[in-house]
Amino acid sequence: MPLNARRKPTRAVRVGRTQIGGGAPIAVQSMAATRTQDVGATVRQVRLIHAAGADVIRIAVDSRKDVEALAEVRAQTRDLGANLSVDLQENYRLAALVAPLVDKVRYNPGHLHHHEREKSVRDKVAFLADVAVKHDIALRVGVNCGSVDPAKAAKFGHDDVGAMVESALEHAQMLDDLGFHRFVVSLKDSDWRKVVEGNRRFSSQRPDVPLHLGVTEAGMPPDGIIKTRIAFEQLIAEGTGDTIRVSLTLPFDDKGQEITVGRALLDDIANGRFRSVPANFGEGLNIISCPSCSRVENEAFIELARDVKEMSEYASKYRVTIAVMGCRVNGPGETDDADIGLWCGPLGVNLKRGEATVGHFSYDSVLGQVRTLLDDVIASKGLTPA
Ligand code: SF4
Repeated sequence: MPLNARRKPTRAVRVGRTQIGGGAPIAVQSMAATRTQDVGATVRQVRLIHAAGADVIRIAVDSRKDVEALAEVRAQTRDLGANLSVDLQENYRLAALVAPLVDKVRYNPGHLHHHEREKSVRDKVAFLADVAVKHDIALRVGVNCGSVDPAKAAKFGHDDVGAMVESALEHAQMLDDLGFHRFVVSLKDSDWRKVVEGNRRFSSQRPDVPLHLGVTEAGMPPDGIIKTRIAFEQLIAEGTGDTIRVSLTLPFDDKGQEITVGRALLDDIANGRFRSVPANFGEGLNIISCPSCSRVENEAFIELARDVKEMSEYASKYRVTIAVMGCRVNGPGETDDADIGLWCGPLGVNLKRGEATVGHFSYDSVLGQVRTLLDDVIASKGLTPA
């Protein structure tokens, strides 16, 4: 059963040598997990992700030093002819510096409010569209449920999916009004249910806009793959989705797995090989961990995520969420919704219970603190096994 037969007709968006949407095969992407300024390590990441068959490879850029490193990475990987994309954080103006080096730029609407507050979001989007036209590149409007535009968050309250969808619709319309149509949209969260709901809602209103699908911070295999599989099976099987990223917490050398797993999932869906979802999946312990990127503050984070999973095995039947994040950029916000949150700094780990900070601990001592906290969360919530 050819998957393309059931795909929704979206606009074609060219990203370097790859077409996204417009009936093209679903493109598979991944992201370099290393510090961008570590040029040697990032070049290795790009090469191994490319060798795994990536259509687009993303690199995070937060500063001018990152831009200089990106230029070097591009120069050293030019022989691959890879399509590179950049993930911008708050400093949207860096788009003008990175655009000559890449094929696509992703911006997060929730991050356009921090710099130059006197300037309207519309003017900032116009700047980005202008840069994209000038350098012949595509854009991605990358909305994350955990870092949604503050005005939308205030308007929608607990309906965070509603806030995410409205933000995505608003930016798609803004770009259209500016006469810029070479963009894709993503609506991501670590909860696959919100990913499915958000993309369904957006797609029902804007079926013409190509969608980039992904469950962000899905965590380690196999759980991270299962969460992603559920979201993709539901969305892609109904024709929604033009490009994907499987976001997994993996050692740097295994990052190519994001591509091989993504292709295997697409192949299963295309051939009708659906896995049944256990009725109680997601009802017990849920460990969210980020896939790591250039912002990761200490590689010990990856081992810590594994240790937390192993240590908390005894509580697998309790409905508790633990979030382990690699940096201070997204770590503090992305852990707010978890019962227990850990966000990693260069020398230590910040431990939270819900939105409240419990303390700052060394990488060696934090695991014991998490265990104590986990026991306490289970006891104080009066939880019983699922
Ligand atoms: S939490 Fe930080 S290190 Fe992890 S993927 Fe997000 S930005 Fe990168």
